[in-house]
Amino acid sequence: MGAPAFVQRHLGPDAADRARMLQVLDVGSLEELVDAAVPAEIRMTEPLALPAALSEDAVQAELAALAALNVPGRAMIGLGYHGTLTPPVIRRGVLENPAWYTAYTPYQPEISQGRLEMLLTFQTMVADLTGLATAGSSLLDEATAVAEAVGVARRQVRKGSVVLVDGGILPQSLAVLQTRALAQDITVVSTDDLVSGLQRHEAFAVVVQTPASDGSLRSVEELTLIAAKAHENGAQVIAAADLLALTLLPAPGEWGADIAVGSTQRFGVPLFYGGPHAGYIAVRAGMERQLPGRLVGVSQDRLGTPAFRLALQTREQHIRREKATSNICTAQVLLAVTAAAYAVYHGPDGLRAIAEQIARNARRLAAAVIAAGFELTSDTFFDTIGVRAEGDAAAIVARARTRGVHLRQVSPDTVGVSVGEDATEADLAAVAEDFGATLGAEEAGATGQPERATAYLTHPVFHSYRSETAMMRYLRALADRDFALDRGMIPLGSCTMKLNPAAAMEPISYPGFANLHPFVPAADARGYAALIHRLEEQLVAVTGYDRVSLQPNAGSQGEFAGLMAVRAYHRSRGEQHRTVCLIPASAHGTNAASAAMAGMDVVVVKTAPDGSIDPDDLAAKVARHADELAVIMITYPSTHGVYEARVADLCALVHDAGGQVYVDGANLNALMGLAQPGRFGADVSHLNLHKTFAIPHGGGGPGVGPVAVRDHLAPFLPGHPVVPDAGPAGSAAVIAAAPWGSAGILPISYAFIALLGPDLRLASETAVLSANYLARRLSERYPILYTGESGFVAHECIVDLRPMTKATGITVDDVAKRLIDHGFHAPTMSFPVAGTLMVEPTESESLAELDRFVTAMLAIADEAQAVASGQWPADDNPLVNAPHTLAEVSGDTWEHPYPRSLAAFPAGDVRGAVSAGAVEKYFPAVARIDQAFGDRNLVCSCPPIEAYASS
Ligand SMILES: *Cc1c(COP(=O)(O)O)cnc(C)c1O
Repeated sequence: MGAPAFVQRHLGPDAADRARMLQVLDVGSLEELVDAAVPAEIRMTEPLALPAALSEDAVQAELAALAALNVPGRAMIGLGYHGTLTPPVIRRGVLENPAWYTAYTPYQPEISQGRLEMLLTFQTMVADLTGLATAGSSLLDEATAVAEAVGVARRQVRKGSVVLVDGGILPQSLAVLQTRALAQDITVVSTDDLVSGLQRHEAFAVVVQTPASDGSLRSVEELTLIAAKAHENGAQVIAAADLLALTLLPAPGEWGADIAVGSTQRFGVPLFYGGPHAGYIAVRAGMERQLPGRLVGVSQDRLGTPAFRLALQTREQHIRREKATSNICTAQVLLAVTAAAYAVYHGPDGLRAIAEQIARNARRLAAAVIAAGFELTSDTFFDTIGVRAEGDAAAIVARARTRGVHLRQVSPDTVGVSVGEDATEADLAAVAEDFGATLGAEEAGATGQPERATAYLTHPVFHSYRSETAMMRYLRALADRDFALDRGMIPLGSCTMKLNPAAAMEPISYPGFANLHPFVPAADARGYAALIHRLEEQLVAVTGYDRVSLQPNAGSQGEFAGLMAVRAYHRSRGEQHRTVCLIPASAHGTNAASAAMAGMDVVVVKTAPDGSIDPDDLAAKVARHADELAVIMITYPSTHGVYEARVADLCALVHDAGGQVYVDGANLNALMGLAQPGRFGADVSHLNLHKTFAIPHGGGGPGVGPVAVRDHLAPFLPGHPVVPDAGPAGSAAVIAAAPWGSAGILPISYAFIALLGPDLRLASETAVLSANYLARRLSERYPILYTGESGFVAHECIVDLRPMTKATGITVDDVAKRLIDHGFHAPTMSFPVAGTLMVEPTESESLAELDRFVTAMLAIADEAQAVASGQWPADDNPLVNAPHTLAEVSGDTWEHPYPRSLAAFPAGDVRGAVSAGAVEKYFPAVARIDQAFGDRNLVCSCPPIEAYASS
């Protein structure tokens, strides 16, 4: 007997439900549905070449064995990654809590107040510590943050093409910046003498790393001089700064930096073999509208209650496309939440105490090695010392390794020792002994900078939750304000909000995976090496490509990596004039933004009335640009949720003109086991492991966006300056800070694929079945915008609300907000077509939950009709007033022309959203939010504490 196969746990509808759904579609079997929906010419004929599905227990045993092959020891390597202690209340309450990790990006702010509050806290923390006016709500890592900052400076300073970079910059930051510069006509000049560099070059920006990668710190006088010289020359100053050091040292904003960037990893986020970690960016006043990535701001709701929401959303790549400030979409929300929670829990005094202890321990080590006759490379440092050890560096590092401590061999003559929060007295004593020294109480060295004089983290949020009970309840209170997958369906087209299996989640906390530094010797990362290899093989088997790189840490970064590979490929053949990138009008905004970053010229291809790529326009554009054609980027199935029949012809047409074909793999959930982009004509794709392969969305990140290619593009996949084995020999493309990007969450996708094996196909088939079932049921009242030639959609469908809006005045927004009253997260709004909703149920939602959604949508259609017929006024009805808060429906006055019960329990069931798969009535913390008010009155750090009193 035994437990049922995992696939039965993963799929929402069971066999009987599937039969019922097929009946509604009037189709005999799943096979018949798929035969009708998926064009025969691209269908796989053989089963997926994956091992048979494993049980949860077996997968976890395998991953535990792999984790045990890694040797985390005590990581004292530094270089942007530092030992830290994740407070258990935060690990359990956030990182391991589905209420936090299964949330979606907070585009629907009314149901996202908890994570928006924590992100605002993150922004406040970063702004305070850097001494700058406004911080964004996370970037992908420190290296990409440096590159984004250089991009901001370039747009601000429209002269010169040189960026001057500190010789002490982290090697991975330099490499990522150089990769971005390749396609942007930017020259990166690296020098230790930034002041004279500024005299020699007409630079638009200067990047200062503080502390430098060798641990040394410049004096504030020198930093001030660099900033003054830069400003004299019209250049901007970017500080890549360690946030923890800034609890002790003068803030970049105080010595003249315009922008500060870095990592928040050492604020309680595990090393994770390089990621995921939240990068940060902050800018001085007046530059907030240039910030790349997302920005949380304060606004107010319909009832005047202060409320949080994403500010300046018009800047998103969706709207600005190739003119966007950045291609960033998925960022690192869960890790930003973790870092902010760490600051909330420790408070300013706690953070300062941690920093002081680290600095003191570094000084004690310095004194010990000096007493033993060694010299330091710098007398000024915070946490990292360089020890000169003529010819002995390798031996010392090897000795430390046998005692379980990872040091850094900087050169044959220099050892780097970086102290983290986790270093114990025994670790420090062992390190001293490795140098033949004895650790004592004496200290040597100093920061060389005055103590920080300005206060930080003064807001009450950093002082109110300092006991574990208080913190536990605060985390719970915030999570309770949010609607995540642990409450009900999040039917977001293009985003694939499927189950994130607990069995796949648990292994990321195994110490062998969580605590490994990305730059340990290969022999100490054998578990990760095997995991990465196996996952790459799985992805090759699913996609039909030849090679995969797991380095890109979001879909957007996979796009950039893929396009840079195409660019390098053309150049390797002497065809550097191929710079045109064809992109269909319906494409996701990141496509165009990534193409612009890769130095390509975007040419838009029209959409035909049936939603497919207009074949005549495509032929015309290919003919017109044949000589310069670099690549076409298509999404398959299309963003319209349809399997286009002639995709293979399209690939051939582009190939004949000498171009490459990029298939955006965000919709791979419709293809697993059914068709393979790598076989039906594409050359390159990115995948979204945080969509198709069960990595949770985290409220807007982390993600993994692997790039998959056919053989001819494999030499151009990403590499890494510190870990060359991470990519092909001689690779010029470095996309992310860490060699394997967000390595720490790869166990999730590996486990997911291992748990399903060839049944991935059943997952895709069920996703297609569920989408078609919803389309059919909803078509009773709403037109379904596009279907394939067979009349079926793929794994998602576009529900056209425009006729209803025209007839009743009820908008997409009203429907989305009323769905909250019903206990649903709204579908994707107005993408790819304005005035519509794109619904993707995924394979994980039960038939009962699908039916509950249909009931809600039909009830909404009735309510809209009632508005049109005059039963309720256009400006006072359950739709325009949605969502309804508990405070409003239980208030002492109620003056609306519909009853309270209808406001709160629109489906008629007083228990609200109760049904299989969904729990209890969900009330949003705030009513509908006024977006324009917040953009007019931009506030992007924690408001006075009264604002929190809303619930
Ligand atoms: C989600 C998505 C992307 C971007 O992926 P991120 O991981 O958010 O950067 C690109 N294209 C499509 C079609 C998507 O749905």
